[in-house]
Amino acid sequence: MTDYDVLIAGAGVAGSATAVALSRLGLRVALADTNVQAGGALNEPLTGDGFENRVFAIRPSIKRFLTDERLWNDIAEERVQCVTRMHIDGEGRERLTLGAHDAGILELASIVESANLRRSICARLDDSVVRLNVEIQAVEQDLDFVTVVTSGGQMSCRLLVAADGANSAVRRQSDISVSERDYKYTGLVANFTVARPHRDAAYQWMGTEGVIAYLPLPGNLVSIVWSASDELAGQLDENTLSEELAKRYDPLGIVDLVSGIGRFPLLRMLPQTVGRGRVVLVGDAAHQFLPLAGQGLNVGLADVAELTALVERHGLEDAGAFSVVNRYRRARKEEVESFTYFTESMHDMAVSRSSFCRAVHGFGFEAVGRTNILKRFLIQKAVG
Ligand SMILES: Cc1cc2nc3c(=O)[nH]c(=O)nc-3n(C[C@H](O)[C@H](O)[C@H](O)COP(=O)(O)OP(=O)(O)OC[C@H]3O[C@@H](n4cnc5c(N)ncnc54)[C@H](O)[C@@H]3O)c2cc1C
Repeated sequence: MTDYDVLIAGAGVAGSATAVALSRLGLRVALADTNVQAGGALNEPLTGDGFENRVFAIRPSIKRFLTDERLWNDIAEERVQCVTRMHIDGEGRERLTLGAHDAGILELASIVESANLRRSICARLDDSVVRLNVEIQAVEQDLDFVTVVTSGGQMSCRLLVAADGANSAVRRQSDISVSERDYKYTGLVANFTVARPHRDAAYQWMGTEGVIAYLPLPGNLVSIVWSASDELAGQLDENTLSEELAKRYDPLGIVDLVSGIGRFPLLRMLPQTVGRGRVVLVGDAAHQFLPLAGQGLNVGLADVAELTALVERHGLEDAGAFSVVNRYRRARKEEVESFTYFTESMHDMAVSRSSFCRAVHGFGFEAVGRTNILKRFLIQKAVG
C-alpha cells in the first residue's frame, strides 16, 4: 500500500485547489511545499484599506468551478471587482471594445487579490489533507506507484501532481523537457488611484513599448500590469512610473501610486507533455505564458478542474492510472498550446516596428470590431 493516493508538490493556488478538490473525492491526499507559509497564510487578515498589487482576473467558467468546489465561499466579496467591458487600444486611433453583453453574459472577469483567493482556498484545507513542509528532491516511477524523495524522507503515492511552479523540480525529475523563450520583458504591477470612474471596464494598450493593462478595483482604484522590455522596466520606479505611464496610455487619469511595484520576469515555457507515467503537471509547472490576456492562473485552474473530473470518473481506485493521465494529457494540450501561441503572436505583433506587422495589427482590430460573430467568438474563448 502506498503512503498516499495523491501527493501534490507545491501549495500555491493551483496545488492547494487540487488538494481540496481531490480530498473531497475521499482520496488520501498530501500537500508538500518548501515554504511553510504557502497554502498556510489562512488566517492572515487582508491588507486593511490598501489593495494588494498582485491581482488575478478570474474568468466566469473558473469562478463557477471555484464556487462548485466551495473554494470561493470565503472570498471577501467587497474586495472583488467585476469587469463588464474591455477596451483594447493601439498606438493609432484603433479601439476594440469587447462587452459581456456581446456574448450574452453578465461579466467578463472578476478581479481578486492573490491573498483573498489563497485565503478562501486555504479555508477549505482541512485535516483530510496531510500538510508536509518538505522539498521534493527526486522522483522515481514504477508501474504501480511513484517513489518521491523529499527533504523529510521518502514516500510513495499513486499519482504525483506537479504544482511546484514554473521552475518545477518534479517536471525536471520526471524527464519532461520544455521549450522556452525569455522575452527579456518584465511584468510590472502596481495600484493607482484614478480621476475618472472606471465603470467596471478594463483597458489594454498594445504598443511598440509593450502592453499596458488597467484592471478596475473597487472605488477609484486600478491595478496596472505593464509588460515592458527589461531595459525600460529598469528605468521605472516609484518616482517615474506614474509619469511614464501617463505619457503612453492614461485612459482614466492617473492620480497617485498607492502600492509598491511588483516585478516578474516574462517567459514562455511549454513542456513537451503535461502527463507522463503517474505524474501530471498543473498550473505554472505545466505552462507559463505572457500575462497579456490575464489567463495564466485561469488555465492553471482549468487543469485542476479537468484533473478532478477525470479522477472522479476513472481514478477512484487508482488516481494515477493510465486512463486518467493519458486523458488528462490529451485534454489539456489544445488550451495550453493555443494560449501560449496566441499571447506570443499578440506580443510580437504589438511590439514590432515593421510597418507590415502594424498594418496587420490595425486590420485585425478593425475586422474584429466590425464583426459581431468574431467578437462573440473572441469573448467566448477568453471567458471559457
Ligand atoms: C505580471 C503577471 C500578471 C498575471 N496576471 C494574471 C491574471 O490576471 N489572471 C491569471 O489567471 N493569471 C495571471 N498571471 C499568472 C499567475 O500569476 C500564475 O499562473 C499563478 O500565480 C501560478 O500559480 P501556481 O500555483 O501554478 O504556481 P506558484 O504560485 O508558483 O506556486 C508554486 C509553489 O510550489 C512551491 N515549490 C517550488 N518548488 C518546490 C519543491 N521542489 N518542492 C515543494 N514545493 C515547491 C513554491 O514554494 C510555491 O508555493 C499573471 C502573471 C504575471 C507574471
